[in-house]
Parts: sequence; structure tokens; C-alpha cells
Amino acid sequence: MKELIEKINKLKQEKNAVILAHCYQNAEIDEVADFVGDSLYLSQMAAKTNASMILFAGVYFMAQTAKILCPDKKVLLPNKMAGCEMADMINLQQLREFKHKYPNIPVVCYINSTAEVKSECDICCTSSNAINIVDSLKAGKVLFLPDKNLGRWVETHLNGTQVITYDGYCPIHHNITVEDVLKTKKENPGVKLLAHPECKEEISSLADFVGSTTGIMNFVKNSPEKKFIIATEKGVVDRLKRDYPQKDFVIIKDNLICESMKLNTLEDIYHSLNNETYEIKVDKDISQKALKCIERMLDVSKTGAAK
Ligand code: SF4
Repeated sequence: MKELIEKINKLKQEKNAVILAHCYQNAEIDEVADFVGDSLYLSQMAAKTNASMILFAGVYFMAQTAKILCPDKKVLLPNKMAGCEMADMINLQQLREFKHKYPNIPVVCYINSTAEVKSECDICCTSSNAINIVDSLKAGKVLFLPDKNLGRWVETHLNGTQVITYDGYCPIHHNITVEDVLKTKKENPGVKLLAHPECKEEISSLADFVGSTTGIMNFVKNSPEKKFIIATEKGVVDRLKRDYPQKDFVIIKDNLICESMKLNTLEDIYHSLNNETYEIKVDKDISQKALKCIERMLDVSKTGAAK
């Protein structure tokens, strides 16, 4: 593995490439990554980078987002099969039908959506900033897609805004049941439950803290507690165990693994950089429209107000 890491680092220098890695990736990928984090952080890093090539160790919509933010750079996805089941739950036709059913209401799309879908939405959000983004619209009603669970959770944090959700979800987080929570809490009395807002509403309501990947990691960092129950993808738990060896982490169920995210390997990254595959391309018109949707989110994240 050491040799492969050295070869990747050498190629990175030769090609002036930067590697962005999502926290759900296999943890060894952090060894070659320049930035590791959640979707918001990685999109901010993509927008800022001076590198001429971006390799996105994540899933397809993330690499597409990097390409939209950096149209002049070469963006690579190491494994072309790495998709997102949630993002694939809504296409342009389904989005148009959803908007037609609820006309003249602002549309917020989770970053876990395709470029085509983003191109016909008003503003994008991530799980880190979803509440602020919806709130910034100052609307009585908003359409929210694709994740119904995140949309419901946002609604519970707003003062009367009605969040009309599309029927999409992340199969990994949606799979967590109340029985899983009650069983794990019983086995670990008094231990705090930290959950991702892609979990169902009944899970979020049982959690001591609900937040994005970064939110969960910061909670652990700043908490004096020594043990936590974690309800999100296993990659986050692997990194928490690595970064806080003096603390204990219990994953709420064993199979919280996004298989798509785990497709990228160090070998794939090496071949991807070496052969400059698989290059992500986005239609220019779609890209420009989707960029407005993403930039509006980045503006709100900086200033707190929608433009
Ligand atoms: S964990 Fe869920 S939302 Fe994230 S990439 Fe996998 S399927 Fe998509």
C-alpha cells in the first residue's frame, strides 16, 4: 500500500491534481487525499482550488458538482459505477411533474441530485446548511427534493414554513429502524445517540444530536463524553475510531455501508490519475444553470442571505 500511495502522490504532483475525498470513502483513501470532508466542505474546496485537475473520490453527483464549479478543470471519478441511489430517485421529468403539481413554490434541491435536476431548481443545500438555506428563502412553502427525511427534519426546525417533500431517500439511512435504536440504547444505557438527518423522522426524534457528517464529528470532538452511538454511514465511524482512539463508538447497525461509495479503491485512484479517466463532462447550458443553483447556496453559506 505504501508504494501505491507514493505512486499516487508522484502523479498528483506531475499532473497538478488535487484529490477530494468524501468521509464515506474507504478510510485508506485519506492517505492520498488533499481534503476529506462532507459535501459542503468539498464543494467549497473544489471552488477554491488552483489545481488543474480534480480527482473526486466520491460518487457521480459530487464529481459533477466539482465540474460545474470548475468548468475549465479536468474532473475525474475513479470508478464510473460509483453512483448515488438517492440522486437517481429523481430525474428531470419527475422534477417537472413535482413542480407542476405544486406550482409557484421555490424549489430546494439537496446536493445529492444530478446536474440536470439542479439546473431546474432555485437553490441547492447540503445537510450542513439545509435549515439556513430553506430559512433564507423566507417563503411560506418550499418544495424539497429528493430526500424526504432531510426535508421533514428541516421543517421541524423552522418557524411555520411548510416543506413539501419529494418521495426520495437514502436507502442506507432510511434502513435504520426504531427497533435498532431501542435495542442499541438498551445495550448502551446513558450513551448519546448522534444521527444524520437522512434518517427517518422517528429516528431523529430519538437522537440526542442530529447533524451532518461534519456536525457529528464536531460534536464528538467537543464533547467530554467517552462513548457514542452513531447512526450514519460506516465510513464516519471508521474515521471517528481512528481520530479518537480514546473514545468508543457503537454503530447502530452493522450494514450501514454505501456500497457505491466503497467502489473507489487506491488502485482505481492510481489508474484514474494515470489514464485521466473517467472524465466528467456536463452539458454547457445545464452546467451554467446548475451553477446558479449551487452558487446561491454558497452565497447563503457565506452571508446568510439568499440573493
Ligand atoms: S450514502 Fe446514501 S445518499 Fe450517500 S451516496 Fe450512498 S446512497 Fe447516496
